[in-house]
Amino acid sequence: MTTRHIQNLIDGAWVGDPVKERRNPAADDDVVAVTPVSDPGVVEEAVTAARRAQPGWAVLPAPARGAILMNAADILRRRHGEVARDLVREEGKTLAEARGEVQRAIDVLRYFGSEGWRLGGQVLPSATPDTMVYTRREPLGVVGLITPWNFPIAIPAWKMAPALVSGNAVVIKPADVTPVALHHLVAALVEAGLPAGVLNVVHGPGRSVGEALVGDTRVSGVSFTGSTEVGMRIHHVVGARRGRVQLEMGGKNALVVLDDADAEAAARVAAVGGFGLTGQACTATSRVICTPGVRERFMAAIAEQAGRYRPGDGLGDGVLMGPVVTEQQLAADVAAVQKARADGAEIVAGGEEADGLLFPATVLDGVRPDSAAARDEIFGPVIAVLEAGDLDEAIDLVNDSRYGLTAGICTRSLSAAQHFAHSAQVGVVKVNRPTAGLDLNVPFGGTKDSSTNTFREQGPTAVEFYTWSKSVYLG
Ligand code: NAD
Repeated sequence: MTTRHIQNLIDGAWVGDPVKERRNPAADDDVVAVTPVSDPGVVEEAVTAARRAQPGWAVLPAPARGAILMNAADILRRRHGEVARDLVREEGKTLAEARGEVQRAIDVLRYFGSEGWRLGGQVLPSATPDTMVYTRREPLGVVGLITPWNFPIAIPAWKMAPALVSGNAVVIKPADVTPVALHHLVAALVEAGLPAGVLNVVHGPGRSVGEALVGDTRVSGVSFTGSTEVGMRIHHVVGARRGRVQLEMGGKNALVVLDDADAEAAARVAAVGGFGLTGQACTATSRVICTPGVRERFMAAIAEQAGRYRPGDGLGDGVLMGPVVTEQQLAADVAAVQKARADGAEIVAGGEEADGLLFPATVLDGVRPDSAAARDEIFGPVIAVLEAGDLDEAIDLVNDSRYGLTAGICTRSLSAAQHFAHSAQVGVVKVNRPTAGLDLNVPFGGTKDSSTNTFREQGPTAVEFYTWSKSVYLG
């Protein structure tokens, strides 16, 4: 297996000594990558380079900027298999999940590449005769992107692509445990013809490198995806200097299963949402709320599903669930299940026994609404089952959360589904579909402590975060 020696990208040059190892979570002897541990001075250089390059990039016609994203998509498509395998090795997804994520990054580049032909404003009537009024979208300038480990190529792609096509220069700080897939994306963009300085990458710890990026007053906007704790801190720092900030953070996503649902189908929906991606998705199903008439059938079906998701090396044939990402995440998952047990939950599948970083698909029954298992994000393959008397009680439980990212319902009733969709205080509602899994052309974001709930990521409105509207009167 190849060890990737990865460097920072500053002003078009690959720099920095790779010293920090990332090992495969499924095979400790596999050193997947070595990266630099940068200091805040490197961020300063990156922002300086970005500032220098941005005006030249912004005057390039938008279709020409888009064409570079399209070229990068073609380059990445030719390396699809290699990138997907590296992604499995660095993060622990299954190969099928990794292929899907790499394809998502390619499609996102294409989607926003073609946006270069559509980036426009409005023509408006003027009260003054013989005057034309129009609006145009101007780039913010330099934007800082801070990304998590759980979708290490798709999330950077869906931030970088709208930022770049709309004429910004970018400094990105990726999660330090997953540098490889991002490196493939960045290398493709460089090879595709991105001018030096327009995209800069700084590897290093969040506490030093991330904070330096967030604190640099020359960075006009910061888009962050990660934990709510870090996001809140970033909001404080960027907000204090009146910078623009976009935060996508944690979730405690609920799936309601009503009496009229097909219990087996609902269990499949819950399992894909809760155990797929090893439960390490912000949109993962981590609570299931059953009404009494379906509960017993659902419990039998979800226990059976949990048995199918036996954890293994994501490169292995037929493996449905990979390892958890790090020792630290494993410890958090184990502690969450132990706490749930102490709080009176019954473990009907899985449990806290792990084999290395292979953590079993776990189902907790009888979870009290006020307990940690019902309230805190676990970020592992753990589903907490709660009971509600009826739909309205279920909706109250869904909304009794600090988070508001996604929610789902399994039912055959259109009116129940619609009532739920309109009452759930979340950014995305799924009916008879897993809470995880998003279309790239649909706006994404949450409410409450899950999101800034202003600018949405993905879809046709994603460029709004990275631009501002200027009005021009032409006499
Ligand atoms: P994290 O918050 O620990 O780290 C995210 C990024 O922030 C990393 O690059 C990290 O190095 C950096 N960082 C850490 N401390 C920082 C600081 N003080 N200043 C600036 N940057 C800092 O999150 P994680 O463990 O990488 O990812 C898991 C979390 O991400 C979960 O809570 C999950 O719900 C969330 N997430 C949310 C979404 C969404 O779209 N809502 C998507 C994926 C993941």
